[in-house]
Amino acid sequence: MSAPLSDHIRQLDQQYSAATYARFAPVLVRGEGCTVWDADGHAYTDFTSGIGVNSLGFADPAWVAAIAAQAGKLAHTSNLFYSVPAAELAQSLCEKSGLARVFFCNSGAEANECAIKAARKYSRDRHGAGRHTILTLQNSFHGRTLAALSATGQDVFHQHFFPFVEGFAYVPANDTAALEARLAQNDIAALMLEPVQGEGGVAALDTGYLQAARELCRRYDVLLVADEVQTGIGRSGRLFAFEHAGIVPDIVTLAKGLGGGLPVGAVLFGERCADTLGRGDHGSTFGGNPVCCAGALAVLARLDDAFLADVTRKGEALRQALAALPKVKSVSGLGLMLGVEFDDGISAADIVRQAQEKGVLFLTAKHKLRLLPPLIISDDDIARGIAVLREILSA
Ligand SMILES: *Cc1c(COP(=O)(O)O)cnc(C)c1O
Repeated sequence: MSAPLSDHIRQLDQQYSAATYARFAPVLVRGEGCTVWDADGHAYTDFTSGIGVNSLGFADPAWVAAIAAQAGKLAHTSNLFYSVPAAELAQSLCEKSGLARVFFCNSGAEANECAIKAARKYSRDRHGAGRHTILTLQNSFHGRTLAALSATGQDVFHQHFFPFVEGFAYVPANDTAALEARLAQNDIAALMLEPVQGEGGVAALDTGYLQAARELCRRYDVLLVADEVQTGIGRSGRLFAFEHAGIVPDIVTLAKGLGGGLPVGAVLFGERCADTLGRGDHGSTFGGNPVCCAGALAVLARLDDAFLADVTRKGEALRQALAALPKVKSVSGLGLMLGVEFDDGISAADIVRQAQEKGVLFLTAKHKLRLLPPLIISDDDIARGIAVLREILSA
């Protein structure tokens, strides 16, 4: 294949697609494992996994076989009927998380919408009207729907789309005193937080803060919602990032890595709120889609203890290699979700562009370089990414 196809596709997209995305130049057409090719035949080593989605890399054979088999049998039923993959995925997620029930949707924002609805109903059922505020953290990111944007604690997202959804408040991350003071006002239904703030700059919350938040939420009968849309499903080296703090949230939201490349979101409910949402309270036409759930089952089947231990080992190796590079100020994150802060004057966006020319794909988060490789990344691919960064930073 040659450049004319790429030029043609870029032209079509620029003419006909809504202009919401500043896209990179490559037209990606095929992938295998940790490598993806563009229409001009260039190969790239992938440290993005489609923003934390392709957990098993591109075209994992067992995952492809599972979704192809399900598509050939039954692709969609609606939630008017039982479905084998959705029921089995719900069981697997509950057994692995220790939570009690699951609601399936199609994205991270939708999962958070569902969590917000459930928290408001829980509070109203138990405490009456008016105690409906959803508390989130400054610098958080919870998605692009109006309620998820309202939950997002970054002013940059609070423009253009007024009026936003009412009933959200924000506290600084890692400040237990501020959290307790806000909870004491007795109008909060839920505290929603990301164990590692992803879009906000790959910033892990303090373990002590998470533990204090767990305890305070119990004391005030406020639901603790962990937005694990990005941190969940093995990304942190544990199946769920909340495990690092030894806590169990009341609600956990999942999406990105769960389907291994297919759109599936999930909301896990702990015992306290397992029966809060009842018949007719919520729904989704595509939620629990059999093909997506078959893909998610293939992902979960792979993420056993040995696999997760390897994610931890590779994450540690990557972190050390990054920290040893020239012009690196700090490395943050957990497992294979890492952020790199550079010395002043070095632009992460610039490094992403240079690395792309050298055949390695990275992301940014705020001013940081962000690494979210597929969980199956090999030691050789890690070494290749580091070598390219070293070359760029040494220039
Ligand atoms: C990506 C992300 C979302 C939004 O997920 P979508 O699938 O894009 O709606 C929500 N929360 C967190 C923490 C995310 O990283």
